[in-house]
Amino acid sequence: MNEAKYKRVLLKLSGESLMGAQQYGIDPARLNDYAADIKTAAGMGIQIAIVIGGGNIFRGLSGATKGFDRVKGDQMGMLATVINSLALSSALTAAGVKARVLTATRMEPIGEYYNKWRAIELMEQGEVVILSGGTGNPYFTTDTGSSLRGIEVEADVMLKGTRVDGIYTADPEKDPAATKFEKITYDEIYRRGLKVMDLTATTMCMENNLPIVVFDMDTPGNLLKVLRGEPIGTYVSNE
Ligand code: UDP
Repeated sequence: MNEAKYKRVLLKLSGESLMGAQQYGIDPARLNDYAADIKTAAGMGIQIAIVIGGGNIFRGLSGATKGFDRVKGDQMGMLATVINSLALSSALTAAGVKARVLTATRMEPIGEYYNKWRAIELMEQGEVVILSGGTGNPYFTTDTGSSLRGIEVEADVMLKGTRVDGIYTADPEKDPAATKFEKITYDEIYRRGLKVMDLTATTMCMENNLPIVVFDMDTPGNLLKVLRGEPIGTYVSNE
């Protein structure tokens, strides 16, 4: 029985979350938790595309402040997302889930070169696709990469897994009076100047009508709750 609210999803995972309790790199326990949740989701018959960040390894902007050429720094950041994608695909395979890494720029045999139709074909065959390398272009983020890919592969929703459990009126770590939105429109995000994703990513979702659910991915089981349509996290859409 398919109890899922969505047929095809784009799951965005942050690179930073992959660090777990560490200061840097990849925490195998966190990776395995993610793999277990994704396995259950795949078992529900949901088509899953994943975009994962690279901030646990390298960020182009912070490289630029240390004297790196911005474009080269961004390229390093995009390669960091490939490293994370390989780690996640490895954990998924170990958990018995068919997973494949596609890359935004050519780098066979590390991953297959991405195109929309190949990604959809693989998902329809029951494979989890991990869309690595961001957009392939500097000056973008993996949030923009996931908006772009989510729109391209015609996902029903982008699930943005973060460390916080939704969108708040203010930063809940700084302002104890901050309250959480169950639902919010893109317009209101702009009006209130809320920092959910970078503006490029937010605008792409708004213009192309891709809803987002922002939720806490670091609590095991939450992904499944979102997929079943349980009211956790914050739902962002045009209405
Ligand atoms: N990046 C890029 N183009 C893209 C996606 C990512 O240049 O389309 C680079 C950028 O330098 C960014 C880094 O990759 O800082 C890591 O991605 P991001 O910071 O979005 O990862 P996260 O913060 O989600 O871990």
